[in-house]
Amino acid sequence: MGDVALSFDNGPDPAVTPHVLDVLAHRGVRASFFVLGKNIASADRKKLTERAAAERHRIGNHSFTHRVPLGNDTGSDAVEREIAATERLLGALAENPKLFRPFGGGGKIGPHLLSPAAVDHLIANQYTCVLWNCVPEDWIDQDAWVDRALADAASKPETLVVMHDVLPRAMSHLDRFIGSLLDAGHRIVAEFPAACVPIERGRVVRDMSGFVAGADVATA
Ligand SMILES: [Zn+2]
Repeated sequence: MGDVALSFDNGPDPAVTPHVLDVLAHRGVRASFFVLGKNIASADRKKLTERAAAERHRIGNHSFTHRVPLGNDTGSDAVEREIAATERLLGALAENPKLFRPFGGGGKIGPHLLSPAAVDHLIANQYTCVLWNCVPEDWIDQDAWVDRALADAASKPETLVVMHDVLPRAMSHLDRFIGSLLDAGHRIVAEFPAACVPIERGRVVRDMSGFVAGADVATA
């Protein structure tokens, strides 16, 4: 059985994130939180991300509005409005290197994920870009996602699971999910699988052509 990294997107959420942090603390595992700028713009919500950072979880940028995937966002200010504005709010909570996870709309990986301008920005600002290889669709079936994620984890040596700490019912199964992973012999790790990291500290280390709009971009 392989290594499994846990990540939580779209938060923080006052009704769900504290529970997720409690479960992770109880289990003694580290995870990653890819937060939205529009959420941490509220001081109360930002406190939840501060707690996550204090508990040694990894904090990354997941855009400001999460509305239009960057590869489809034709606004000339998209990079500033979605990536840079969120990073300013994260401030010292961001790790070094800074982490950015584009959003796919339903977890799909494709050329809609990033624009050439976004890639340029990630490179120029020495980001690590974090994708995923397991989306159990916890927002579609807030119960059955656990079995889908377990089956996925059993099928590969390194799994990076995307969950959402904004879904109370889905996250009510988190402790059982972690217990099942451990029972199955998986190791829960904070590091991301290399295959899910196309840009590392501003360096393109994998072929980006599959997830950049226009695809006229430097490849590894
Ligand atoms: Zn998302």
